[in-house]
Amino acid sequence: MTSPQVQTEKKTQATNLLEVKKLKMHFPIYKQGIFQKRLVNHVKAVDDISFDIKRAEVLGLVGESGCGKTTTGRAVIRAYDPTAGEILFKDADKGNVDLAKLSREEMRDVWKNIQMIFQDPYSSLNPRMTLEQIVGEPLKNYGVLDGSALRDRVAELLRLVGLRPEYMSRYPHAFSGGQRQRIGIARALSLNPQLIVCDEPVSALDVSVQAQVLNLLKDLQGQFQLTYLFISHDLSVVRHLCDRVAVMYVGKIVEIANTEDLFEDIKHPYTEALLSSAPKPDPRARTKHVALQGEVADAANPPSGCYFHPRCRYATDKCKTDAPPLREISPNHWVSCHYSEELSLGA
Ligand code: SF4
Repeated sequence: MTSPQVQTEKKTQATNLLEVKKLKMHFPIYKQGIFQKRLVNHVKAVDDISFDIKRAEVLGLVGESGCGKTTTGRAVIRAYDPTAGEILFKDADKGNVDLAKLSREEMRDVWKNIQMIFQDPYSSLNPRMTLEQIVGEPLKNYGVLDGSALRDRVAELLRLVGLRPEYMSRYPHAFSGGQRQRIGIARALSLNPQLIVCDEPVSALDVSVQAQVLNLLKDLQGQFQLTYLFISHDLSVVRHLCDRVAVMYVGKIVEIANTEDLFEDIKHPYTEALLSSAPKPDPRARTKHVALQGEVADAANPPSGCYFHPRCRYATDKCKTDAPPLREISPNHWVSCHYSEELSLGA
């Protein structure tokens, strides 16, 4: 089988900013013996996944809690050292690099071009630093600006995210959750990064401000042609913002397609169940409800065959023994299910 990124590589090699190939992130499990700890198993949080992101594209990574999406984002920025695989990045300064092979020291230069927006705007900002220090810190650390030029750039960034520059001497506690997330976005933008990994950037916010922050991210992406890897458990959020969507289950990608194709022509039973269980804006809307039974499988001891089979209402005996490969069933629509072409899915 030709993998999705090998196939897209031929078509869009010039435009891919990031290519993740056969990425694995396994965490060891140790058991304490009488004298020493011994390795007994691994949690396969990310298990052999591949995808790419083009310049100025927004790729959504969705799935339930524990599916491996946040671990994927952290492996991409090298917060973790991957167990295996390649993370090929077209760095503006270093050229083509495999992030998986770089040392921490070498990554320091790359982090200038890859930034992250964190889920929790309360813990991700240092409470002892003013806005000016928080937003200006990356510029100062990399020696890009200082003095009045730095202050002007911070003021410009605050305006960009909808905050008043007069606030720059205040501390994070003076701001609401939505405003704090705007501060985090301003900081992430400060070095004009090539790629921003957004890790559930609105899920910790009140529903009333989620849309404002989402629209801000969308406007900034359009204005500056930003590239996002957008991690979320919320399909409606992903639909609003992303060009393509990858659905993850127990460390694997089970469906990846253009956003419109994914939502209009669902091909994986897990995507169907996720969509069906998402809250609908119109309570009168009649949809086929597909309840998701049980919990996400244990990544240390996943089920045999198709990992989704214990929760899948279409499962057959074959699903219990044979792992379905990720196949391209229509242009740029990849699915890992034995019965994608036969099932009539819809949520
Ligand atoms: Fe369900 Fe079988 Fe498809 Fe897995 S392979 S999603 S168990 S129908």
